[in-house]
Amino acid sequence: MNFERGFDYIIVGAGAAGCVIAYRLIKNLGCSVLLLEAGNPDNNPAIHNTDMQSMTSLWGSNADWGYSTEPEPGLGDRRISIAQGKVLGGGTSINAMMYIRGNRRDYDRWKFLGNEGWSYQEVLPYLKKSEDYEGGASAYRGVGGPLHVVNYHNPAPVSQAFVSAAMELGYAGDGWDCNGEQQENGAFFYQSTRTQDNQRCSTAVAFLKPILGHPNLTVATNALVTRLLFANQQVVGVEYLQDGKLQQVKAESEVILSCGAFESPKLLMLSGIGPAEHLQAHGIPLVVDLPGVGKNLQDHLLFGVGYRCKQEQPLPNLLSEAGLFVYTSNDIDDTSIASPDLQFFFGPVQFLEPQYLVDGPGFTFAPILVQPQSRGTVSLRSNNPNDLAVVRANYLQSDADLDVLIRGIELSRELANTRAFDEFRGEELAPGVSVTSKSELSNYIRQVASTVWHPVGTCKMGIDPDAVVNPQLQVYGVERLRVVDASIMPTITSGNTNAPTIAIGEKAADDLIIATR
Ligand SMILES: Cc1cc2nc3c(=O)[nH]c(=O)nc-3n(C[C@H](O)[C@H](O)[C@H](O)COP(=O)(O)OP(=O)(O)OC[C@H]3O[C@@H](n4cnc5c(N)ncnc54)[C@H](O)[C@@H]3O)c2cc1C
Repeated sequence: MNFERGFDYIIVGAGAAGCVIAYRLIKNLGCSVLLLEAGNPDNNPAIHNTDMQSMTSLWGSNADWGYSTEPEPGLGDRRISIAQGKVLGGGTSINAMMYIRGNRRDYDRWKFLGNEGWSYQEVLPYLKKSEDYEGGASAYRGVGGPLHVVNYHNPAPVSQAFVSAAMELGYAGDGWDCNGEQQENGAFFYQSTRTQDNQRCSTAVAFLKPILGHPNLTVATNALVTRLLFANQQVVGVEYLQDGKLQQVKAESEVILSCGAFESPKLLMLSGIGPAEHLQAHGIPLVVDLPGVGKNLQDHLLFGVGYRCKQEQPLPNLLSEAGLFVYTSNDIDDTSIASPDLQFFFGPVQFLEPQYLVDGPGFTFAPILVQPQSRGTVSLRSNNPNDLAVVRANYLQSDADLDVLIRGIELSRELANTRAFDEFRGEELAPGVSVTSKSELSNYIRQVASTVWHPVGTCKMGIDPDAVVNPQLQVYGVERLRVVDASIMPTITSGNTNAPTIAIGEKAADDLIIATR
């Protein structure tokens, strides 16, 4: 090995989790940190603007890895494109900014699966620690943290009708905080991560900007890490490609992978950590046979139930203004660890597949499958680090998943048919009132459903043979290597995945800090 430089910690990936870890290590330890990011600095103004047009312009841009799935059998063999951030801030620089912590049962289930330290009560302090909530501190909410979280101001009249409609159907509403004591069964307006002056509050803005220039921190952009370097079973550094040049850097303490749910398993496999046969097929020397690397992929799916609106509505400033989490089945036997399986986005616009769009005002319910039973995979396309991984999400492989989404259409219609919507409700544009049988509804869903960009689970934390990391997020079978990002979730959270991933970063940073004492 030919190390050019050495650092105490090397963090690979400056996304949701990576920026948090860099911030906490720099603030709390007198150690040197190298943060390597494959993408560019976040100096494109569209990253920071919070209008919908700027946001959507980032998807498919050079700030996006450009991932698509293989043809998905459960979705009519369509390839689903899944934007993933490739820029300082990672996903948080291109995401839809909605702030949802997940359900308390999500974390209790992680603990139930053998992950000591990950119950809701144990993760809650980390969710609060990051946060600077404009609604103020409480037993559940934090203030004074780097991540500024705001309430939705001035929702459109039809989005207010969504909350009233849910209340007509017996759900709670009226100031419901889905990030507070109870997430489910109350309609709410989405909170979002924005700076005080209404710019995007990515983790690069919140956590990285305040420490840029610190003498202990080195940040390298356009630096694609190509493999981990080992001395026997110990990780001693990484190799990365920058400006066409391969460089090797030494890690005196640990390497932390925070590359996200597609790139973290890819980098482990490129480095010889993964299913032995798969690595052999690509001619990669085996370091550890870890069959679970790249398995257990979970993602959220959404689609639209759209209506014409009888009144013009103001433009929204989030993809979804109002929402609700519910259980679709009464026979969930143990609600103590079962999370709600259906989430709603709702917006004062038509956000449907192009073939359904019509002129004039509209509103859309978007049911989201938040506890999918289907599991997908991430595997290597080749042993070339520049190639994207092969993603098979296996969406709607499980019939139970389809049933949840069918219930999502029924519940959208029940909500739309309440008195609260009388002054707004026009024609049902999609799927259309004539679409009612189970097979017709299923066909519609399979034709139009798409990702909410929440891949997780591909380097799962656990204590079973498919686990990739232990509850301290250390990779099994090697020393001095952790994975800290959305890929470690054993099961996906009910709701958008950014806040949970930031909390994973906070908890891992605390473990690292405590380990040095
Ligand atoms: C379009 C979109 C919309 C979303 N909307 C929301 C939302 O509204 N609310 C919400 O809560 N969540 C949302 N999410 C999801 C959320 O952003 C992610 O869950 C979160 O960013 C995952 O964090 P992470 O740390 O696992 O990975 P990421 O944030 O993706 O960070 C990984 C980083 O590692 C870098 N990297 C990868 N491989 C390498 C390598 N080999 N070498 C160097 N660097 C590397 C990447 O470039 C990236 O910067 C959205 C995501 C997307 C893409």
